Amino acid sequence: MTRNIKSSQRPFIMPIFVPHLGCPHQCVFCNQSSITGSNSKASPGSITEIINDLSEKVTLHCSELLFPVFQGPLNDQLRAQRGRARRREVAFYGGSFTGMDKKVQIQLLSAIQHLIRKGLIDSIRVSTRPDYIDPQTLHLLREHGVKTVELGVQSMVEEVLRCSRRGHTAEDVLKAAGLLHGGGFELGIQIMVGLPGDDALRNGHTVDRVIRLNPHFVRIYPTLVLKGTHLEKWYHSDRYTPLSLKEAVELCKRAFLKFHRAGIPVIRLGLQSSPELETKGCIVAGPYHPAFGHVVESSLFYDMASHLMGKRLKSRILRAKVSPSDLSNIRGQKNENLSQLKQRFGLLDIQIEVDEEQPRGSLILINGTKLNEVSYRTLPFS
Ligand code: SF4
Repeated sequence: MTRNIKSSQRPFIMPIFVPHLGCPHQCVFCNQSSITGSNSKASPGSITEIINDLSEKVTLHCSELLFPVFQGPLNDQLRAQRGRARRREVAFYGGSFTGMDKKVQIQLLSAIQHLIRKGLIDSIRVSTRPDYIDPQTLHLLREHGVKTVELGVQSMVEEVLRCSRRGHTAEDVLKAAGLLHGGGFELGIQIMVGLPGDDALRNGHTVDRVIRLNPHFVRIYPTLVLKGTHLEKWYHSDRYTPLSLKEAVELCKRAFLKFHRAGIPVIRLGLQSSPELETKGCIVAGPYHPAFGHVVESSLFYDMASHLMGKRLKSRILRAKVSPSDLSNIRGQKNENLSQLKQRFGLLDIQIEVDEEQPRGSLILINGTKLNEVSYRTLPFS
């Protein structure tokens, strides 16, 4: 089972955020209730607004995407490139899609149908909760061209789910994953590290159980203390202590390696930075970094280099060979990896070579003769 996705195979995703459509839950880390009011429901006005915006936005995205390659009417362009382009998906993010009123779901999904018929959009993805998946819901999604469902799982440990007030169980996740696999959907799973009641052992347990669910991809998010959440109150009353950035990176490295070795792509590490998130005061505390994924992979490359350096060095000049996609990972944030490696191992210089043939996530070090090769697959767990 190997599902590492080449960038050319990754879908081109057009996200549509539906945060104002409300959610009756109050997970301790989520600030949705402070934004929308805990009992907010979709208003007819808000849905019309989203739908009016939708078609125009998606058509514009498609034109921009195709224009550099093809000229002429959009439909001709699409026919000409059929089979060659990345899959184009509209994604409804920002709430629990299948928890919304059925009429609202149908209205939103229907607004995309003419784009699917024209071939502008290949499919739709939605994100939702595990306890909002049942056979009728999946039937509705399938009928409207939804092919991918992302489940906010967060943890597979009951006590962590309870402490985080998720309102669903690990058993709900098992059932939902079974229904989604059985229904032929692509399954994505989101998990979090650093939730209340969680620790390294429990997080490892979550990762192992998620691997057994055989998802098509995962996203991993460190828990942040956001303004207006229960977690903020707990943080101020010393009931909750967030992970440090270093702790979050260590946990995510472990999870990343396990998923990688199971052939499950990790398509996101850390929250996407956004103007809202970076507004002063929005993040009260916690391991936020605007390029968290890069910090994690750079740290893995530092570990890989240190692992190989444990062998005897013949010269104080080192050559490192990586895939072009890993150039910034071996360098680290602001070249930190290189300066730390030089200092730690008394090196005069580290020369980096990029090699198109080198697999992503692997490192060769040459010191006189070839030192050895290590990769995400072979690096021993620390
Ligand atoms: S279910 Fe999702 S949207 Fe609703 S409160 Fe929890 S995290 Fe927020």
